[in-house]
Amino acid sequence: MRNRPPSSVSRQVSLFTLQNMITALYPGTFDPMHNGHLDIARRSLALFDRVIVGVYDLPANKLLFTFDERVALARAALDTLPDGARAEVRGYSGLTVAYAQQVGAKVIVRGLRNSVDFDFELQMAQTNHWLAGEVDIVCLFANAPHHFLSGTLVREVAALGGDVSGLVPVACAAALRAKGLGIPVDGPATAHVKKRHEMKE
Ligand code: ADP
Repeated sequence: MRNRPPSSVSRQVSLFTLQNMITALYPGTFDPMHNGHLDIARRSLALFDRVIVGVYDLPANKLLFTFDERVALARAALDTLPDGARAEVRGYSGLTVAYAQQVGAKVIVRGLRNSVDFDFELQMAQTNHWLAGEVDIVCLFANAPHHFLSGTLVREVAALGGDVSGLVPVACAAALRAKGLGIPVDGPATAHVKKRHEMKE
């Protein structure tokens, strides 16, 4: 059967569907993406039609991975999720709300681990609301196994030669190992000590 041009009714239905699709932006430094981040991305995919994982290019804190590495590692991590292909990974700079507006995201997703995160997120949400009232913030509570997990902790433990393979996706563990990090102390441990000193500077 030949393809017929879409009728005006089906065109209207597609337009309606597009307009009602909810895009969520999940922003962060992701240095590197760990299992807590990945869990929030997975749950966002179950809640929203379109999820953009936004990798912030130049945060104030010192980074272990370059911007390109963080983007590539986030992509590799998302590819391990059954629904991960639906998530887009994009780098961005500047204000997160401005980027949310640019990509048509109605929602910014954040993960909450504890009251420290809560206080920070409340302040950020109020600032963002003041800047762009039409973008809402949705906070998802960290699932129990990931409560204690942060990028800082992963980097610190790996720098001291601790095995972080249970805390991060496979690609991130491999990338840490490629930097000589996350190797048990009785392994070939010289690079992690050097890296630890570099991170302290
Ligand atoms: P961090 O260094 O704390 O991991 P990011 O900027 O990379 O910082 O975090 C991006 C988002 O992921 C933030 O909303 C943060 O609260 C959330 N997040 C970080 N760690 C976890 C975790 N263990 N569980 C759930 N959400 C988390």
